[in-house]
Amino acid sequence: MPFSKFGLDPGILGAIHKAGYTRPTPVQAAAIPKVLQGHDLIAIAQTGTGKTAAFVLPILHRLMLAHRPDQTRRMKVLILAPTRELAVQIMENIRTYGKSLPIRVAAIFGGVEEDAQIKVLRKGVHIIVATPGRLLDLIGRQQIDFSALEMLVLDEADRMLHMGFLPDIEKIAAILPKRRQTLMLSATFPKEVESLARRFQYQPKMVQIGKRSNPADTVAQCVYEVPAHLKSALLLELLKQPDFKKVLVFARMKDGANRLTEFLKAAQVKVAKLHSSRSQEQRLQALQDFKDGKAQVLVATDIVARGIDIDGVSHVINYDFPVNPEDYIHRIGRTGRAEAQGEAISFVPEEDLNLLGILELTIIQRLQRKRLKGFNYNAPIPPYIPGVTPPRRDWRKRTREMDAKKSTKPSPNPKSTPAPRPPKKSTNHRRPK
Ligand code: AMP
Repeated sequence: MPFSKFGLDPGILGAIHKAGYTRPTPVQAAAIPKVLQGHDLIAIAQTGTGKTAAFVLPILHRLMLAHRPDQTRRMKVLILAPTRELAVQIMENIRTYGKSLPIRVAAIFGGVEEDAQIKVLRKGVHIIVATPGRLLDLIGRQQIDFSALEMLVLDEADRMLHMGFLPDIEKIAAILPKRRQTLMLSATFPKEVESLARRFQYQPKMVQIGKRSNPADTVAQCVYEVPAHLKSALLLELLKQPDFKKVLVFARMKDGANRLTEFLKAAQVKVAKLHSSRSQEQRLQALQDFKDGKAQVLVATDIVARGIDIDGVSHVINYDFPVNPEDYIHRIGRTGRAEAQGEAISFVPEEDLNLLGILELTIIQRLQRKRLKGFNYNAPIPPYIPGVTPPRRDWRKRTREMDAKKSTKPSPNPKSTPAPRPPKKSTNHRRPK
């Protein structure tokens, strides 16, 4: 079925054509007619399947139907997203699909000055894409008028609930007009999302593409069982292979992401990092460098990498194994997007084998085990920072260098060198009476 069958505004069809889309993806084919008819919608679809266009295209069309050039601009659509990156990305998509339309969109998210965002809002916008926290701040400052609102979209609903946004979403929904169309999009459909739908939606239509909770079929998945202290060395070896062109590496914690980035930098790998302690500017720059190919590797934590859309990610590497299966599905969905091929690799040290077991039960699939030829899986733990220790060869070289330095320095005063301490007599640490 071609896009023209939906009867979309010619300006939107032109933009789709320019974007190079020849036919709707399955979630678009199922969702677009329902949104155009004005139904509430729950769309459960694997990541990278074209979910954003599935709600943005019909929204733009509906806005155009009601558009009067002489009217002042009023906010008609609110889209809530879990992270700043996703909010910016949705805004950019809206600008792409609505390039030739007189529709104004703004993104509202924390980490930047409120005043600049307020200025944009005062000029008048039709669509706001927002993260819940900053939106509530602006609502508190009475800077947003929702009286003309017609549509609410909750994107990555499961993730927003995971991140504890439920109270914020409830507060926001409470001040929106009751008569509205509500769309909910989610990669998974846990009970919490179901309950949200029951409370916020009216007789929603459901669209479910692919098996529930199953990762995209276009992603080849495999596992390297590797001791924790050798993960960085294994990563470095893999990155040397020519097909590892655009590699997204997931770390569990910010500290780990920082250390891994430093390690890769020291090994001359072009790397950018993305986590929530970085400023908004740094985060956008990191994403841009990765998108442009200036960085071969992007090291990221889950929170920020959720939902971001980067073309041509060749590999997703779970450097730290994700704690829950939903995160795994989201992570690996960053590659193999829109029917392109991608590979997802997970490093699993012995202590994470139970998490791997839970994941395999959830996705009802045993992941292929791989081993890198010539890699020494039995290398002992080097006496250095765990997790980021350079390969043992380098460590030895470093030690030799340090020894050499020491031996060339003359001892300042050999006589004053303290005698070695005698061994402790007692290991009893109880206080004497
Ligand atoms: P999303 O799931 O919305 O993040 O989209 C994933 C990717 O698919 C994005 O890069 C879109 O530009 C692309 N995309 C969306 N719809 C189509 C389509 N109908 N044909 C080809 N690519 C698409």
